[in-house]
Amino acid sequence: MNLYRLKGKIHGASYGLGSGRNTIGRSSENLVRIPDPSVSGVHCEIEIGETGVVVRDLQSTNGTFIDGQPVAESAIRPGQVLQLGTVALVLEEESVTIAVPTLPSTAVEENGPKTLADGTLACSRFPELQAAFRCTKCQRPFHGSALRQVRLSSGRLPLLFCPDCDGKCEVIPGFSRSGDSGSVLLNPRKLLSRITQTIRLGWRKPE
Ligand SMILES: [Zn+2]
Repeated sequence: MNLYRLKGKIHGASYGLGSGRNTIGRSSENLVRIPDPSVSGVHCEIEIGETGVVVRDLQSTNGTFIDGQPVAESAIRPGQVLQLGTVALVLEEESVTIAVPTLPSTAVEENGPKTLADGTLACSRFPELQAAFRCTKCQRPFHGSALRQVRLSSGRLPLLFCPDCDGKCEVIPGFSRSGDSGSVLLNPRKLLSRITQTIRLGWRKPE
């Protein structure tokens, strides 16, 4: 796999570069061979390392240039022009494609609501959690931790909104939402943050 490539500025020649040292010149012993009379037998080398790319002139007859400036040894960045004699080459970085896995929620959506092993409805966001709420707009079932909570006043239960369509969510019959902590709707992490919040706001007078 080549990380960088040199591309001819005038004619479309393209040379892949590997990690480590890449010698460039007219003779066949070079990794990158450029058959041009203005290029020396072994003209220069490009070293590709962890920290970047370095060009070293190897006592060439006509010189090595980066963006028109003569160099003996210099760092070069992608997009800069490396010139050997009359041959101009652009350093390009090879693009790397990263495959992004598709979200499991898509599959859940395609096949409709799932149920857990005990037959209860599963959350459409977190299929391993039991759904205790349903969106009044898109009708999807959710676990409390999947919902957006909006608190209007400290004495009231927070309003719950659907993460997919922003519709209002209500408790599925059979579940209860008791008190402010609402045990059925909070996962342990949320519950912990609620306790922390309560402690932090402890100085306030009780309502
Ligand atoms: Zn919804």
